[in-house]
Formats: sequence, structure tokens, C-alpha cells
Amino acid sequence: MSSTPIGIFGGTFDPIHNGHLRLAQEALEQCNLSEIRFVPCGTPPHRSAPHTSAQHRSNMTRLALQGSAAFVLDEREIRRGGPCYTVDTLTALRAELGERQPLCLLMGGDAFLSLHTWHEWEKLFGLAHIVVVQRGACASHNGRPLGNAIIEADAALREAYRARLAPSPRALRESPAGAVVVVEMPALEISATGIRRHCAENRSIRYLLPDAVAEYIRSNHLYTQPC
Ligand code: ATP
Repeated sequence: MSSTPIGIFGGTFDPIHNGHLRLAQEALEQCNLSEIRFVPCGTPPHRSAPHTSAQHRSNMTRLALQGSAAFVLDEREIRRGGPCYTVDTLTALRAELGERQPLCLLMGGDAFLSLHTWHEWEKLFGLAHIVVVQRGACASHNGRPLGNAIIEADAALREAYRARLAPSPRALRESPAGAVVVVEMPALEISATGIRRHCAENRSIRYLLPDAVAEYIRSNHLYTQPC
């Protein structure tokens, strides 16, 4: 097996920001991915309803990805009605891309620690590798990626992590799915919640997200209400 892995990065993207983009860039380079598909979530099953429509979130994601040849918008979840489960998205991508193509589901460390709450989460390992992008200087603790956080995590998740943790991103090319790889990135203290709050308080959101997205938010009067 030697095909170049493809990354899949799902999120509410309400709005997409530089933290998301930097996570993707780090994963692209550190894991030698051929491309990353950004998948805005339609109806997120794990959290409260987004503050803007799926179409606005998708439009903002398209604007944010302009100029990055390796970053691709994938609108399948917003086209599908009802709750969007990652297991369904990966099943569809696997059917399209074939059994041998390595797929890597990207997520932050915070998202990984609640993976056991996702619908049919154990099936995800049969469909893709998981690349956890840990933020910050204490990303690894005594050489153990995810440090103390994983020790305190859900027992089944901890077992899956221990059994599947690969020592390097090279593992991502050796099979189509099933490994967990942890890479690190410098922390960027940016969140969509913080950006929405800035908008509602009429504060600048410049340098937190691409200018084109900031302009889209301004001209469509998004996030003007307190969140
Ligand atoms: P909200 O503030 O509305 O909860 P968010 O900014 O956390 O949103 P999401 O769309 O919920 O963004 O996150 C999607 C993914 O992006 C998750 O895997 C999360 O870990 C990651 N992520 C979010 N913010 C950052 C950041 N500043 N740096 C790196 N990764 C991030």
C-alpha cells in the first residue's frame, strides 16, 4: 500500500477560522496528505443548532479555502438532510474512493476526547485513520501524546487509543484505516464562539479568520445577536 492519504476535516465552521485552517495545514504537511476535504456539518448531532444556515457556513468555508490548492470543500453533509453522522460520511467516501485509499479523519485533541459519544464511534476505525492535532506546548506529556487527558478519558476510548496509537505518520500510508496518529501544532486561541461574541459586541474580527470570511460576515449581517 503506497497511496497518498487523503484528509477529511469536519466541523460546524460557524464560522471557519484560522485555528481550523492552521490545524489543516499542520496535518497536510506533517502527515504528507495529498488533499484535505473540509466537510461543513449540516445538522450537528452532538451540539446545539448552528447560529447560521448550512449555506452560509458552506459559503464561508469556500471563501476561506480559496487559494489553497490542497484544500477542497465537500458539501455532502449540508446536501443530506437530517442529522449528520461522521460514520455515514466516511462510509460514502470509502465507497467513492475505494477500499485501498488511506483516509484520515482530522480532529483536535478536545474532539478526540469525546469521540466515544459519537454515533457508532468504533466503526470509524474501520473506515479511516484518526489524526489528532494536539494544540500547545504541553501536547505531549513525558513523551506520551495526549498526556494525562487520555488517562482520564472514557475507558473504551482509552483502550482504542492505546491499541491503535502509531509512532509516526508513516503508518498512515501502510493501511487504509485503523491507526491513531497524534501530531502537534502551536496553540492558536481562536474559537468560533469567540468570533461570534466579537461580532455581537461590534468588535473587530480581523486576523482571527481570512479577510474574505470577515467581509462575508459583515455584508450578510451574521452573528449580530448575542450568542
Ligand atoms: P465553537 O466555538 O462554535 O464550539 P470551534 O471554533 O471549536 O467552534 P468547531 O467547528 O466546533 O470549531 O471545531 C471543529 C474542529 O476544529 C474540532 O476538531 C476542533 O478541535 C478544531 N478546532 C477548533 N478550534 C481550533 C483552534 N483554535 N485550533 C486548532 N483546532 C481547532
